[in-house]
Amino acid sequence: MSETEQNQVESNLFPRVRIVLVETTHPGNIGATARAMKNMGLYKLVLVSPHLFPSEKAIWRSASAADVVEGAQVVSSLEEALEGCQLVIGTSARERRIPWPMLEPKSCGEKVFKTQAAGKEVAIVFGREAHGLKNEELQMCHFHVNIPTGKAYSSLNLGMAVQVLTYEILQASIAATDQSDQASQEDDAWDMDYATSDALEHFFVHLESTLVETGFHDPENPRQLMTRLRRMFNRIRMDEMEVNILRGFLTSINHLKAKKPE
Ligand code: SAH
Repeated sequence: MSETEQNQVESNLFPRVRIVLVETTHPGNIGATARAMKNMGLYKLVLVSPHLFPSEKAIWRSASAADVVEGAQVVSSLEEALEGCQLVIGTSARERRIPWPMLEPKSCGEKVFKTQAAGKEVAIVFGREAHGLKNEELQMCHFHVNIPTGKAYSSLNLGMAVQVLTYEILQASIAATDQSDQASQEDDAWDMDYATSDALEHFFVHLESTLVETGFHDPENPRQLMTRLRRMFNRIRMDEMEVNILRGFLTSINHLKAKKPE
């Protein structure tokens, strides 16, 4: 292990928390994000199809966090970026049409801290400078977080938004150290591991195809059915066993349909 890598391992306070930036336009914002992260003890940066990367501008804006920029993982889809995550939080500057379970920045910091302290992988997802996150990307998240702002201008610079939310994670960890080891209480209380986001995605695909197969769901006229079902299942945060049970149930319906053609 090189000296830089060794330093990272020692300074990385939250190795299971990844910051995901989706289709960032300005490489300067990648650098600003890296700096904001390292300032708060985070190192794991994942970039989904950045417009311009690697880039000198990103390194320059990161100041002494060039190691975070250089260590960033570049992937081509959000699904890939979220692989293995058991808690996914999406950020949004606006109210959306279908309300989603929301967190305040402070409660977001606490939730992220507790979840990673219990050994789970966590992602916080940030959107494009001009358009934020798409609805289907927000629908891949368990919770949404909005940073309260003045009425006239609700959209923060990307790096600044990362700063606020990562600050709250560090704050939560400082508060938890003060309260000794209550940290992992919430997630440890559960007897099973929570389902990963990839397992959930497979489940949603299976659910949708089964709903189509039974004739309940018309893909030509989808309305908000899958959105509402996703919201419901994300709200209850299924564990691995629950997903397996539902997948088994869907398979039994698939078999029944296969046996009894209309
Ligand atoms: N015009 C876009 C804003 C994009 S700002 C929109 O209306 O959605 C770029 C990114 O910074 C956002 O996708 C989000 O990840 C983050 N961000 C900016 N302001 C935020 C706020 N008030 N709360 C939470 N995240 C915010």
